[in-house]
Amino acid sequence: MRLFAAVVPPGDRLDELGRVVDRLHRLPGADGIRWTSRPGWHLTLAFMGEVGDELLPELRVRLERAAHRTPAFSLRLHGGGHFGRRALWAGVAGDLDTLRLLAERSDAAARRAGVPMDEHRGYRAHLTVGRARGEGVPLGSFVEELDAVEGARWQVTELALVRSNLPVSGVRGERPRYETVAAWPLEGREGRSG
Ligand code: ATP
Ligand code: MG
Repeated sequence: MRLFAAVVPPGDRLDELGRVVDRLHRLPGADGIRWTSRPGWHLTLAFMGEVGDELLPELRVRLERAAHRTPAFSLRLHGGGHFGRRALWAGVAGDLDTLRLLAERSDAAARRAGVPMDEHRGYRAHLTVGRARGEGVPLGSFVEELDAVEGARWQVTELALVRSNLPVSGVRGERPRYETVAAWPLEGREGRSG
C-alpha cells in the first residue's frame, strides 16, 4: 500500500484554513486549480510510497519508537506559497525544530524497516491546498491570500501513518483519498536527546 507519515492538524485548525480556502475557491481562475479535499489535509513528514505488507510490522514498531522519543510540540498555520508552477500550500510556524526532528525520525524509521526512501533535499513543512491543472495557471492571487494565513496554535500530540489511495480512473470517491492506519502519541520528554 502507498503510505506516508504525517501530522494531522485538529479539526478546528482545519476549519480556520477552510475559511481561507473557501475564499480561494471563489477567486477568478479557481477552476484552473485541482483543490485538495479538506478531510485529507495533512503535513507530510516522510513519504514512503508503495510499501510491501511484509514490511508493515517492523515499520509500525519503528514509527512507534520515533513517536515515543519525540516530545509533543506546538505549531500554527502561518503563511503560504507555491512550489514550482503547480502546488499551492499553507505553511506552518512554531516549534519547527521538533517538527523537523520528527520528520527525520520518521524517515529513519522507514529506512530501518527496509522501505527504500528517496534522499530528501531540505524538508519544507507544508499543507498542500491545491495543484494547478497546467503550468500556465496564474497563481499570484492565491499565493497572496495564502501568505496572509495566521492560524491559532495547536499542540501536535501524535504521529500518524496514512494510507494514500490513488484514484482509480473512472471511479470517483469510492474510497477515502487518505486513511490514517495508525497513530502513536508523542511521548518524549525533551528534544534531541534519547
Ligand atoms: P496526487 O499524487 O494524486 O496528486 P497526492 O500527492 O496528495 O495526490 P500522494 O502522491 O499519495 O498523494 O502523496 C501523499 C502525500 O505525500 C502528499 O502530501 C504528497 O505531497 C506527499 N508526497 C508525495 N510524493 C512525495 C515525494 N516524493 N517526496 C515528498 N513528499 C511526497
Ligand atoms: Mg503525489
